[in-house]
Amino acid sequence: MVASGDNRRALIAGNWKMNLDHLQSIALVQKLAWTLKDRNFQSDHVEVAIFPPFTDLRSVQTLIAADKLEFSLGGQDLSPHDSGAHTGDISGAFLSALACDYVLVGHSERRAHHGEDDEVCVAKVQAALRHSLTPVLCVGETAEDLETVGQSAVPVAQLGAVLREISAEADIVVAYEPVWAIGSGTPATAEQAQEVCAVLRDTIRDVHGDAQADRTRILYGGSVKSSNIAGFLRGADVDGALVGGASLDAEEFAAIAQFEKHVTID
Ligand code: PEP
Repeated sequence: MVASGDNRRALIAGNWKMNLDHLQSIALVQKLAWTLKDRNFQSDHVEVAIFPPFTDLRSVQTLIAADKLEFSLGGQDLSPHDSGAHTGDISGAFLSALACDYVLVGHSERRAHHGEDDEVCVAKVQAALRHSLTPVLCVGETAEDLETVGQSAVPVAQLGAVLREISAEADIVVAYEPVWAIGSGTPATAEQAQEVCAVLRDTIRDVHGDAQADRTRILYGGSVKSSNIAGFLRGADVDGALVGGASLDAEEFAAIAQFEKHVTID
């Protein structure tokens, strides 16, 4: 049994960041598929998605299709534009053509290293939706934000900025990723994650109403491992996880995807 929202299928998403070339990506996807099969993983309740670098997407797409693997696929970023003179950028149309289902938008590394603000995130979410991709909008506070304004203010503002520019019918995924928890080995507590995810769901409800609030999946991300995933997924408003470092290890990521084995309902 899954302890998170009854009608929301859990999503375990692996963000590989700038790791693994296309040959290494094939090896990891094959190992992940064998490991999950060996452990008799049931995908009815849990969707597993992987977000490889752009240069790996075609190889991974081909492998998923050839071996009929039950993995969803996503890009780590997209251009706000559809085509044209934008050297180095990747259009949502290209990701769609590679059978991507998802695309990350506003990951804290994009916000910090590429100056992506809310305006850019709005344009990228709109571009994703134009190309039938589900944007996974990443929001979260820095350690400094946490001290000065608390944990919810910044993620709520980042989400609100996007919600106000999309329709109530749009399908999005929200990933609450406290910046201080990413890659630090210090995750938020399960209680902190649930608290912020609940406030984010209330924000969706306030802006667009019950239907979008009830169907939108909200993930927690930041130093997720197989040893802490069960606690996060106990939260009623936590519908899955965005996993960075631990998604590069097939055994560990498979164990995270099998969180249902460790979740007990109190
Ligand atoms: C991430 O980059 O989205 C992330 C959550 O990283 P990690 O799991 O390594 O903290």
